[in-house]
Amino acid sequence: MIKYDPKSLKAEEFINDQEIIETLKYADENKNNLKLVDEIIEKAKKRKGLNHREASVLLACEDKEKIKEIYDLAEQIKKDFYGNRIVMFAPLYLSNYCVNGCLYCPYHSKNKNIPRKKLTQEEVRNEVIALQDMGHKRLAIEAGEDPVNNPIEYILDCIKTIYSVKHKNGAIRRVNVNIAATTVENYRKLKEAGIGTYILFQETYHQESYEYLHPTGPKHNYAYHTEAMDRAMEGGIDDVGIGVLFGLDKYRYEFAGLLMHAEHLEAVHGVGPHTISLPRVKRANDIDPTDFDNSLSDEMFCKIAACIRIAVPYTGMIISTRETPEIREKIIRLGVSQISGGSRTSVGGYCEEERPHDTEQFDVSDNRTLDEVVNWLMRAGYIPSFCTACYREGRTGDRFMSLCKSGQIQNCCHPNALMTLEEFLMDYASPETKEIGEKLIEKEIDNIGKEEVKDIVRDRLERIKQGERDFRF
Ligand code: SAM
Repeated sequence: MIKYDPKSLKAEEFINDQEIIETLKYADENKNNLKLVDEIIEKAKKRKGLNHREASVLLACEDKEKIKEIYDLAEQIKKDFYGNRIVMFAPLYLSNYCVNGCLYCPYHSKNKNIPRKKLTQEEVRNEVIALQDMGHKRLAIEAGEDPVNNPIEYILDCIKTIYSVKHKNGAIRRVNVNIAATTVENYRKLKEAGIGTYILFQETYHQESYEYLHPTGPKHNYAYHTEAMDRAMEGGIDDVGIGVLFGLDKYRYEFAGLLMHAEHLEAVHGVGPHTISLPRVKRANDIDPTDFDNSLSDEMFCKIAACIRIAVPYTGMIISTRETPEIREKIIRLGVSQISGGSRTSVGGYCEEERPHDTEQFDVSDNRTLDEVVNWLMRAGYIPSFCTACYREGRTGDRFMSLCKSGQIQNCCHPNALMTLEEFLMDYASPETKEIGEKLIEKEIDNIGKEEVKDIVRDRLERIKQGERDFRF
C-alpha cells in the first residue's frame, strides 16, 4: 500500500487515494456527530484553517443549523480577509491547437468540427486593445497544449506583446498563465517573463478517472500533471493557482484532493496555493456535460465554496463566467475573491462585434459586459478592484501570505481597490456606473483605518481625475 505523505514529491503519496477513501469514510461516520462538528467550527473560527479531514466532515454535515453556521463563518472570514473587494480579470485565449484527447474539452485533437486558430502577435495586440478598452488590467492567458503550434517561445512572445501594449490610458499590468503542465526550465522562463500566477487545474484528483478522461497526449500522465506545481515552484513561480473541474468525478473526493494539494504545497514550499478556482463542466462544441454523471447541485457547489473559504482562509477563490449571474451572486458572498467579467472564451473573440461560438472553449453563462458586471457588483455592496499591486511590489508567495496573515494586507488592498476603480470610472464606465462608483468610493474612503493613508488616497484620487494613472501602495 502507498503511504500518505504530504511532504513527498510523488503525486500518489501526497494525493493519496487510500487517505482520501479513509477521509470520506471518517466524514460519513462523523457527519452528524454534532460535538465534533462544533469543535471543527470552533477551530475554523481561529482563522488558521482546517485540514482535509476536518473540512470533509463539514462538507458532509447534514444538520441545517450547523450548515448555516458554516455559511455565516465563511462570509465573516471573507469579510475579515478580503473586505468587500472583488478582483476583476478576463481570460485571453491564444490558441486552440491541442494534441491532447481530454474528453470534456472541445479543443481535443480529434474534434474536426472546430476551426483551429492561433493568434498572431498583431492579433494578440488587437485583442489586448479590445480588453484594455473594456477596462481590464489583469488577464489569464489560455492555450491548448501543442509543442509545435504553441511552444513556450510562442507563449513568451505573447506575454511580451501583452505587456507592451499601451493604448490610451490602458495597460495590462498582470498576466496570469493557464497552460499545460511543463518543465522546470519553462516555468523559469515564464517567471522571467514577469507572469503573475501560474494556474493549472487538476481536472480530477482521482487517478483512474483522470487517465480515462485524458486517454491520449502528454496530459495522460497523471503524475506529471499532479506534480506540475512543485516544478513551477522549483522554477521560481511562487504564486500558483489550483482547481478541479467539478462534474468529472465525485465532488467529495475532489474536495479532499484539493485540500491535500494545498497542504502539500504548504508542507514542501512553505506557501499554499495563491488561488483555488471552482470551474464546473459546461456544454461546448462537441461536449455534452450530461455525459459526465457527477454534476453537483448549485447548493452543494456553494457549500464547497464555503468550506474551502474556512479551510484555507488565505487562499483567493476564483469563479468564472461558466456560472450564471444568480450563482455568482450567491457564491461571491461565501468567499470568492476574484471573478472574470465580459469574458469571451474563443480565440480572437474580443475583436468580434458579436460573441463568436466556433472556437469557444465552453458556453459562457454570464454574458454581461464588464461595465454591467462592475455596476452589479457595486449595487450589491462590493468594490470591484482592478488592483495588480502585490506582485508588482514583490508581494508574492510567502511575503504575500505573511502580510495576509498579519491583517496588514487590508491597508494596501482597500486603498488600491478604490484607486483602480476610480481609473475604471474615469476611463471606461458608463455614466450610470460612474455615478454609483463615485458615491461608493466616497463612502469607502471612510473605511480606511489610518488618517494619513486617507489623506494620501484623497490626494491620489484627485490626481487620477486630473489624468495621472497607476498609483499603488
Ligand atoms: N490546456 C491547458 C491545460 O491542459 O491545462 C489549460 C487551458 S484550458 C484552455 C483551461 C481549462 O478549461 C481546463 O483546465 C479545463 O478545466 C477547462 N475546461 C475544458 N473544457 C471545459 C468545459 N467543457 N467546460 C468547462 N471548463 C472546461
